[in-house]
Amino acid sequence: MAETLYACADCGLHYTDAQTADACYRYCVTHHACSMEITRHSVERRRPPQAMTPEPR
Ligand SMILES: [Zn+2]
Repeated sequence: MAETLYACADCGLHYTDAQTADACYRYCVTHHACSMEITRHSVERRRPPQAMTPEPR
């Protein structure tokens, strides 16, 4: 099943929801840096090694 990804137009990281991608973009253009709190949600950072298994919190 294809997953719709939303890219931050500034840093190029991808997110699975447009809201987070928009938040990342606004943070990027404002601070000229990425927010760790936001980029940790990107598919590049959270790409699971095996399957899409939700991590227990
Ligand atoms: Zn960004």
